[in-house]
Amino acid sequence: MNRLKNKIAFITGGTTGFGYAIAELFSQEGAEIAITARNEERGVQAIEEIRRQTKREARFFQCDVTKENEVKRLISSVTNAFGTVDILVNNAGYMIWKDFEETTEEEWDQIMDTNLKGSFYCIKHTVPFMIKQRKGAIINMSSVVGLVGKGYNPIYSASKGGITLLTRSLALRYAKFNIRVNCICPGTIITDLNRDRIEKAPDPDKALENILSEYPLGRLGTPMDVAYAALYLASDEAQWVTGIGLPVDGGFTAGK
Ligand code: NAD
Repeated sequence: MNRLKNKIAFITGGTTGFGYAIAELFSQEGAEIAITARNEERGVQAIEEIRRQTKREARFFQCDVTKENEVKRLISSVTNAFGTVDILVNNAGYMIWKDFEETTEEEWDQIMDTNLKGSFYCIKHTVPFMIKQRKGAIINMSSVVGLVGKGYNPIYSASKGGITLLTRSLALRYAKFNIRVNCICPGTIITDLNRDRIEKAPDPDKALENILSEYPLGRLGTPMDVAYAALYLASDEAQWVTGIGLPVDGGFTAGK
């Protein structure tokens, strides 16, 4: 308990999936929480649930992270409400399951804008507060396919590979300000992001079996597997850890 006591954490895409699990766990560990997403109704439900459980401050701010003016306004609202941001989790993400050759320019843009540009905007507008206080932890959400290539989903993979190297580059850039920048590289976990991939497959059982065959530990992950990795990277226990891409993947990348 209290591994994040007195810290202010800001989590994008915090109403569902990994983002919600991270927000819940961070709040249980003593942080005050700001979450953002586009859907206000889900946002309000998420923070009410977190407040009910932990009795700690949690606020929702509506924002589309692909729009710089919205992100700028958002960070200013978060810092007005909480004073600063100690931990930024760039978790908002988007994926479509479609053949590379069929993908349109708009779909390419939506993937890159959400996964890569959204993280750029959130870091750009949050980091001045971290520089001022000479400390901060930034956690970006990459993927196992941001570490190794796979024939499926190359555009999503390119966006996550970008996140992995943005992380390493910014770790070097901001180390002198005691700001740590790391990313998490999760393997497959069933959430709103990818549920269709299995449910709409011609043979869902076979599709699940194929995915599972890539995971030596013999199961898919859970949002909490990712949340515990985020907790470590956000906490002072990781104060000498920067620039890493931490696989949370049941062994997926071990032999690759
Ligand atoms: P999810 O769909 O539950 O979460 C994504 C969140 O991002 C949602 O809350 C969504 O509303 C938000 N979001 C999307 N576009 C946004 C925008 N423009 N502005 C603001 N918010 C926006 O899926 P998840 O699986 O929890 O994914 C979380 C992150 O983890 C994503 O970055 C995803 O790419 C990454 N990831 C997921 C998996 C997996 O198997 N589920 C594996 C590796 C990495």
